[in-house]
Amino acid sequence: MKSYDIVVIGGGPAGASAALFLEKKGYRIALLDQAVFPRDKVCGEFISPAADEIFSELGVLESIEALNPTRLSGVALSAYEGSYFQVDYPDTVDGRTMTSLSVERSTLDGLMINKVRNSSIQLMEGFKVTDLLFDGGNVCGVKGHDKTKTKFSIKANIVIDGGGRNSISLRRLNLRRSSPGKGKIALAAHWQGVKGLESYCYMHISHPGYTGIAPVGHNRANVVLVVDRNYLIGVNFEKFYMTTVLGNSLRKRILGGGAPVEKIRSVDSLAYSVKKTRCGGLLLVGDATGFIDPFTGEGIYLSLRSSQLAVGVVQNAFDKSDFSSRQLQSYDLIRKKEFRKKNILSKVLQCLIYKPYLCNRVVATLAAQKELSSLLVGVIGDYHPANKVVCFKYLMRLLGGMLSHRQSSFLPN
Ligand SMILES: Cc1cc2nc3c(=O)[nH]c(=O)nc-3n(C[C@H](O)[C@H](O)[C@H](O)COP(=O)(O)OP(=O)(O)OC[C@H]3O[C@@H](n4cnc5c(N)ncnc54)[C@H](O)[C@@H]3O)c2cc1C
Repeated sequence: MKSYDIVVIGGGPAGASAALFLEKKGYRIALLDQAVFPRDKVCGEFISPAADEIFSELGVLESIEALNPTRLSGVALSAYEGSYFQVDYPDTVDGRTMTSLSVERSTLDGLMINKVRNSSIQLMEGFKVTDLLFDGGNVCGVKGHDKTKTKFSIKANIVIDGGGRNSISLRRLNLRRSSPGKGKIALAAHWQGVKGLESYCYMHISHPGYTGIAPVGHNRANVVLVVDRNYLIGVNFEKFYMTTVLGNSLRKRILGGGAPVEKIRSVDSLAYSVKKTRCGGLLLVGDATGFIDPFTGEGIYLSLRSSQLAVGVVQNAFDKSDFSSRQLQSYDLIRKKEFRKKNILSKVLQCLIYKPYLCNRVVATLAAQKELSSLLVGVIGDYHPANKVVCFKYLMRLLGGMLSHRQSSFLPN
């Protein structure tokens, strides 16, 4: 049976970055993905500005920049066609101007896998992991089959599962817990001929859900609609998507000239949380650690960052030759500590966007108070700390703004 120091499941942002970070530390790594790259993935495709630094550390930023990718200056957000703000990303504390990449996933993930391909990592495409191997209570490898259905088993000191929302660990160890937003479904497609977009990520909240629209270059845009799954019972997905997307006058204005150039794709049961892993030899990264909602568009950054956080913990485990759950548990603690306030913010936003009156008032206040909206997109952009927004002071300033005057709506022309 083949054996490696580390087996990584999944070549998405989480798995690829985990493998690349750990390869730099000198470990022998195999990365397995059931897909053959380039492969596509339903995603809003706007990437937090803070991800640039991680891409740079991984050595993939240069190849992304070589494509002359679309870069967005900030966020434009409307609520129920009654209020609107457009705000640029604020500068970093050391005065750097920030922008966010907007790159199609087939391209982005393909570039990351190319980096893996050109490293000492053993890349195994078309290899599906169907189960984990156990030694006592600890994971000690994986097994599965390749494209020709030939079976394989691989041993490893540590398995890093970056298999995303349907990862084998979540299913095998029954770790997945659904969350309050479990009834949501996302419908997505790339559109062509979209000429009304500037360099912003457009979020439009309206009944019966919201859309995220990201220009990805050459009059092409990615349009994701998130709604309650109940709206789709017995209806034609394509028809529903088109009617709902274009039923909002602001969206119609910016997308009007364009049309989808692919079949509408869907992702069901968007939100879930994940129970603590009780066995050693296993670490989860990226979406395999849970997912709240794509509204803030942070999934790719959080996936990269979760892998970055795993590196020190993996190194410690190898230094001590101890791969027990006790040794690895610090990873959960570090990750939870870093992401706790971001998660609170995501949950608060989830509650807000489905309350039209309140949502309108908040958006109107953010439109009137640029400092508050700027802070919010800096936090959502993952380079300002979440406690700048998830705090009493911010809440009071927002409430003060909402109560002091009724802002009129300034919709874009
Ligand atoms: C509708 C929607 C919109 C989103 N919009 C945004 C956005 O605008 N910006 C943003 O940053 N994030 C967004 N996200 C989140 C983002 O897509 C995810 O957070 C990100 O893809 C997670 O990366 P990952 O590497 O953990 O998983 P994935 O990208 O899902 O990669 C997992 C990989 O594992 C492989 N795999 C799975 N199981 C196995 C197995 N058993 N054996 C072998 N291989 C396996 C898969 O083939 C896949 O390649 C969105 C998500 C959704 C659902």
